[in-house]
Amino acid sequence: MKKFFLLALFLFSVPVFSQITGLSGWNIVLDPGHSQQENMGIYNYPEAMKNLYVAKHLQAFLLDSTDIDTVYLTRSDSLVIVGLSQRSDYANSIGAAWFHSIHSDAGAASSNTTLLLWGQYANGLEKVPNGGKAMSDIMIGNLTKGMRTSTSRGSIGDCTFYGCTSGGPYLSVNRLTNMPSELSEAGFHTNPMQNTLNMNYEYKRLEAKTFWWSIIKFKGANRPYPGIMAGKITDSESGQQINGAIITVDGRTYKTDTYQSLFHNYTTDSTLLRNGFYYFERVPGGNQQITVSAPGYETYIGNVAMSDTFFTFKDVQLGNITPPYIAESIPAAGDSLSPGLKNIQITFSRPMDVASVNSAISFNPPVAGTTTTWGGSDRILTITTANMTPSTQYTLLIQATAKDKFNHPLDGDGNGIGGDAYALNFRTKIPDFIAPAVITSYPWGYRQFMIRDLSST
Ligand SMILES: [Zn+2]
Repeated sequence: MKKFFLLALFLFSVPVFSQITGLSGWNIVLDPGHSQQENMGIYNYPEAMKNLYVAKHLQAFLLDSTDIDTVYLTRSDSLVIVGLSQRSDYANSIGAAWFHSIHSDAGAASSNTTLLLWGQYANGLEKVPNGGKAMSDIMIGNLTKGMRTSTSRGSIGDCTFYGCTSGGPYLSVNRLTNMPSELSEAGFHTNPMQNTLNMNYEYKRLEAKTFWWSIIKFKGANRPYPGIMAGKITDSESGQQINGAIITVDGRTYKTDTYQSLFHNYTTDSTLLRNGFYYFERVPGGNQQITVSAPGYETYIGNVAMSDTFFTFKDVQLGNITPPYIAESIPAAGDSLSPGLKNIQITFSRPMDVASVNSAISFNPPVAGTTTTWGGSDRILTITTANMTPSTQYTLLIQATAKDKFNHPLDGDGNGIGGDAYALNFRTKIPDFIAPAVITSYPWGYRQFMIRDLSST
C-alpha cells in the first residue's frame, strides 16, 4: 500500500496538461460495485477491489484535469459494506447530476466481453431523465478498444438485456436513481488473463482512462494528448507473459509484475500467475524508443510512434536465449533397453530444428539404418533400435551442431551454455524370446513357475 501511495504522489503531482473545461456546474457519483472482497475472481482478486481502484483513479482524473464541480464515491475503501439501495439513496440525497456504476462480469473462464447497460423501461424506452444511453454509446467503444477485448456485447438497455415484463429499469442502480445513469462491465473477473491483469495497479488506471475520455467527450471537451504507452511482454516461443521484464521508455522504467512483487498476495504457487503488462503515462509525442529486457531473454530495442488520440499499444515478444538441453532420455543414462522392442526417446527442453538434429546423431559402435521420428511440437525425438546388437555397450552422440528453432546450439551437458555435444551411454539387453516355461521343479511335486516378462529383465 505504501508503494501505491508513492506512485500516486508521483503520477498526480506533476502538472503537465492544461485544464479541460465544459464540466463546471456538473458532478457525478462514481459507484464502485459491491463491497469488501465480494465477487472473487478466478485467481483470488475480487471484483469489488478492482471496481474501487478504477473509481478512485477516475475520480482523480476528473478532479485533477477538468473543471468539474465534484466527484462523489459511494464507497472509498474495501472495509465498509454498502447495500444496493444505499448507493442510489446517496446519489438522490445529494441531488447528483449523474451516476455511473463500475463493475466486471462473471461466467465461463473463456469469456471476457465488455458491456454497458443503461436504464430502460419494459416498453423499450430509455429511462427518464435520458442520457445514460448516449453516455454508454461513447463508453462502450473506448472501453472495448482500451481493454483490447475481441468481443463486446455493446451498449444495451437493461430491460432488453435481462428481459423485463413490466416496469423497469431492470438494474437497481438504474431504476432507483433520479438522474441519468449507466453501469459498465469491464470484462470478466472469472477470466484467468483478465483477473491477473486486474491485479495490476496501472491496469485499473487504463480502465479509468477509457471512462474519463468518454465523460469529457460527452461533455463536449476535446480529448487531450493521451501520452500513454502500454502493452504486454511475452515469450516468442511459448506466448507466455513474462514476469519481471524491464521496459524502458523516455528514460523511465517499468517492471512487469512478479510473484514477489504482487502475485504472492493471491496464490502460493510461484509460477501460476503472470500478466506481462506494462504502462507508462506522460510519454511525449512522436517517436519513442522502447527497450525491453528480461533474464534469459534477448534484449529488444524498437521504436514506437505515439498515438495522438488513444493508448499507444506496443506488445513485445522476447526471444529466449536459454540454449536447448536434454530434459529427459529413455533409457536413462547407464540404463538398458531391449533392441527392437523399446525405442530411444530424447525429450529436448524446447522445439528443435529437426534437420540439424537428425544430421547430428551418431552411435558408437555405429548402427546402420536407424530412423528418427519427431513429436511434441519437435521436442520429442524417437530413434529406432531394431538394428542394434544385443548385449552391447552403446553411446548415442548428438553433436553440438544440433540447434533449436531459433538457432541456439545444443547445450549437451546441460550447464546453461550452448555449443557442446550430448552423449548417452546405455547397453542393450540379452535377447529374450523364450516363452514362459517351468524352470524349477521340486521333488515333492510342488511346481514353482517363474514367468519371464519380455518387457523387463
Ligand atoms: Zn459487479
